[in-house]
Amino acid sequence: MKRLVLIGGGHSHVEVLRAFGRRADPNIELILVSPDRYTPYSGMLPGWIAGHYAFADCHIDLDRLARFAGARFMLSRVVGVTYGKRELRLDDGGVIGYDACSIDIGSTPPVNAIEGARTHAVPVKPVGAFIDALEATATEARKGRSIRIALIGAGAAGVEVLLAVQYRLQHAAPAANISYSLVSASTSILPGHPQRTREIFLRMLRERHIALANDCMVRSIDGHIIRAADGKVVEADFCIVATGAAAASWPTASGIATDPQGFIKIHETLQTESDPVLFAAGDIASIPKRPYPKSGVYAVRQGPILAANLCNILTNQPLARYSPQREALALISTGNRYAVASRGPLTLAGRWVWAWKDHIDWRFMNKYNRVPVP
Ligand SMILES: Cc1cc2nc3c(=O)[nH]c(=O)nc-3n(C[C@H](O)[C@H](O)[C@H](O)COP(=O)(O)OP(=O)(O)OC[C@H]3O[C@@H](n4cnc5c(N)ncnc54)[C@H](O)[C@@H]3O)c2cc1C
Repeated sequence: MKRLVLIGGGHSHVEVLRAFGRRADPNIELILVSPDRYTPYSGMLPGWIAGHYAFADCHIDLDRLARFAGARFMLSRVVGVTYGKRELRLDDGGVIGYDACSIDIGSTPPVNAIEGARTHAVPVKPVGAFIDALEATATEARKGRSIRIALIGAGAAGVEVLLAVQYRLQHAAPAANISYSLVSASTSILPGHPQRTREIFLRMLRERHIALANDCMVRSIDGHIIRAADGKVVEADFCIVATGAAAASWPTASGIATDPQGFIKIHETLQTESDPVLFAAGDIASIPKRPYPKSGVYAVRQGPILAANLCNILTNQPLARYSPQREALALISTGNRYAVASRGPLTLAGRWVWAWKDHIDWRFMNKYNRVPVP
């Protein structure tokens, strides 16, 4: 019997669990370690923030999926891996040995890169804590307090989240006096997206009275003051950070080879550069030769290859290679059940794009939440 341990219930690992459930291997003992029973599905997060989805709609029940996979589910957080001894350490002091192990623990916005952000701002991830903070702000707004909301980070997630926040608050506190600002480090918004996609969102921001602060590389937040490197200032009562992805510190601290940002360096087989039986996938991983964006789409695509390779490494079979797609379809929602599809030079927009996205998202969720369990 070989032991395979999955660290984190991210987008790649849910597929590994599903694959085991569909084709159990009696010679592999499977363990999933996650600090949360429910893991969020990224595609539906803006819809959850806007209020279109309930918690259960956009979270995968890892306990149920683990039962389907015949896996042991340990509700715990990994704090380190001693890969020389093939052991991992848990936050409660426990130690688990493994024959093969995979890390899919995601990322969080790099809050530490902005002085004072940890105290005076709220990162969009973890999203549960973010929604709690947003609700507290809605309560203040309902009491009649004027609120200034600023979101730092004008990539797809940032723009989507701010539009979703505005939609939610317009319904949760319709009479409230709330102003919105989007703070972008570059000269415009949505870097990497076609001009037409950018124009649609720029028009939408204007129509919804969301102020745009361009060329604003934020260095610090002190109370209500968001200060850029060049001295520019934006004021906010509720400040949200959605500036990209940062890695957990424990993989580097464990001596696993990481890139300069702390992401685990992997080969195209998804094996880490440090140890052939230690794998990594999703946001936390990085292929130095074939960089790919920190996006759920890529983590999802890695899932089937990871599932196959974790079995293959334990049975001495050849490993498959993952090749990141050159570009992915982005379906960016605008808060009000409307969405924009952007891929390469192509841009399409409409309510039908939202309906299409909604259909894709439900199909994804049903794959993992509707599994039969013993
Ligand atoms: C608001 C927002 C909207 C987004 N929208 C999209 C979108 O529409 N499409 C898209 O492709 N991407 C989107 N993204 C990006 C997407 O969320 C990430 O790329 C994706 O979640 C990464 O998946 P993952 O598998 O790496 O990890 P995740 O799905 O983040 O899962 C990580 C898991 O690991 C667990 N974990 C963390 N630390 C530990 C530990 N120490 N021990 C054990 N378990 C641990 C966590 O609890 C979690 O369950 C969005 C991001 C944000 C913030």
